[in-house]
Amino acid sequence: TLHAGIVGLPNVGKSTLFNAITQAGAEAANYPFCTIDPNVGMVEVPDSRLQKLAEMVHPKKIVPATVEFVDIAGLVKGASKGEGLGNKFLSHIREVDAIVHVVRCFEDSNVVHVEGSIDPKRDIETIDLELILADMESIERRSERSSKLLKMGDKKAQVEVELLNRLKDVFNQGKGARTLTFSDEEQEIIKGLSLLTLKPVLYVANVREDGLDNTADNPYVQQVREIAAAEGAEVVVVCAQIEAEIAELEADEKEVFLQDLGLKESGLDQLIRVSFHLLGLMTFFTAGPMEVKAWTIYQGTKAPQAAGVIHTDFERGFIRAEVVSYEDFVENNGLNGARDKGLVRLEGKDYVMRNGDIVHFRFNV
Ligand code: GDP
Repeated sequence: TLHAGIVGLPNVGKSTLFNAITQAGAEAANYPFCTIDPNVGMVEVPDSRLQKLAEMVHPKKIVPATVEFVDIAGLVKGASKGEGLGNKFLSHIREVDAIVHVVRCFEDSNVVHVEGSIDPKRDIETIDLELILADMESIERRSERSSKLLKMGDKKAQVEVELLNRLKDVFNQGKGARTLTFSDEEQEIIKGLSLLTLKPVLYVANVREDGLDNTADNPYVQQVREIAAAEGAEVVVVCAQIEAEIAELEADEKEVFLQDLGLKESGLDQLIRVSFHLLGLMTFFTAGPMEVKAWTIYQGTKAPQAAGVIHTDFERGFIRAEVVSYEDFVENNGLNGARDKGLVRLEGKDYVMRNGDIVHFRFNV
């Protein structure tokens, strides 16, 4: 499961969005283990292919892929210095795959802004600064150690010392680690640093209820887009309040509601889709009489590792994968039809999985 952490200044709409997420998750299915932690919400990844597959396979159940959102409220100015519960929140961010940064782009005199005005650029910089300061602190100790090693004649420390200096430089410019590129050797080192500013970011521009249809005219949204473009991040425009309303609707009502607003999908669905894209994730399926199920893997994953997502035994004992594309499966009304036409392939351990593959793994136990 993909884990995304929701951050942002107070009063930007994080809780509203998070409540929409948990509500949507509660509507979609039962995840009893989730209700234990009030800061975690799980949503299903919308994928119309699952229904199509189910029409042909008639499984006992359909199991979509899921994304887990963690509400990391409390990240305020001074968090890296331990202001409020700052440090605790920063450690939560270390554990997520991606950061969803909610930015206030709506004016509402009833809702105070902590800094007194709406200014997405300033707000983004405020949050970024805390993350950068935290990263600076975590490389400080490491930097002292590797400098010592280098002085003692450890040649291997050279690369690390240079890398850490490069990181310090960008941090001092007020930029995150994600603005740099790294060699393979540096990648290995950087993995161990668990830097906050290396995590992919998705900006959520939270706009007014009436602001969804003309986001091009919204100067606040434009500011967010410019910042995102400069760092290769993505932007999703939502109205958190509307999302909260949508999350309470049944599927068919939801469609009508969205049509009335002139929208193709809810902000939440868009958020999930873009998160997938941001992280380079894709889906493959298993389809049998027990269940039709979506599995999440990184693009470029090979067949044995994909099998390992289902069960480690599948990877260890991997023999072959029986693979058919989603299109071939659907056009031929299922596996047998596709097999009759010779469209089911036997693939080996070097096969790179494709989006929508329907797979049956053969393995030794
Ligand atoms: P958080 O502190 O970031 O979690 O912010 P909240 O979700 O608690 O929202 C703060 C206030 O802003 C609440 O009173 C919300 O009702 C309001 N709010 C959130 N999203 C929107 C929005 O899209 N439009 C408007 N007008 N108000 C919103």
